[in-house]
Amino acid sequence: SDFTTLGLSDALTHAAQKAGMTKPTAIQQHAIPPLLAGRDVLLPGQTGTGKTAAFVLPALQKLAHLKEDGSTPSIPRILILEPTRDLAMQTAAVCRQLGRQLPLKTRVICGGVPREQQALSLAQGADIIVATHGRLLDFVEKGDLSLEHILYLVLDEADRLLDEEFSASMTALVPYIADRPQTVFCSATLPAPVMALAKRVTKDPIRVEP
Ligand code: AMP
Repeated sequence: SDFTTLGLSDALTHAAQKAGMTKPTAIQQHAIPPLLAGRDVLLPGQTGTGKTAAFVLPALQKLAHLKEDGSTPSIPRILILEPTRDLAMQTAAVCRQLGRQLPLKTRVICGGVPREQQALSLAQGADIIVATHGRLLDFVEKGDLSLEHILYLVLDEADRLLDEEFSASMTALVPYIADRPQTVFCSATLPAPVMALAKRVTKDPIRVEP
């Protein structure tokens, strides 16, 4: 099978091919159709399984529909939470690479980078936010970033996000995030505390088997 048979547009299938993804991985085959159908998904992906493209490609297809008329402004619609700055940078690079043919702005909001620089880039518009939770909460609480139009939320490597600080950030962030965005919950392992978080943030999710 190829990406088109999973429901991806020709343009995104082409972008995937250009990035060296000619045949979907197992995880992509199982995750992309329900994600395109609007379902929440629990993704078991370890690094190396192709999980990043599995959640980025459906996000891009959603944005492509919204951007069809060419006049839609860039406001944050996709939010991807990462445990570290490095992962945030890597995932943002995948968004930019696979979304190259679309008029999209991907912004990284994370610690360890001057805040003003990030505020300036946000002010130029953003469709996709890839963030770590501490700096994200700072932007949201100060009113520098609105999450009220987020329609697709990804918690990547959620088992690595599970400390008290993250838990407190999530509790603080949830009221700022649009009501029930479609949610992708990625975690290599699903021990009880991780499942509890998954239950909190997803609704009737499809569980993709590893
Ligand atoms: P990830 O599991 O998301 O960290 O991706 C691991 C690596 O697999 C990355 O370098 C991707 O570019 C690559 N990759 C993802 N999907 C495919 C695919 N369908 N075919 C070939 N390589 C892929």
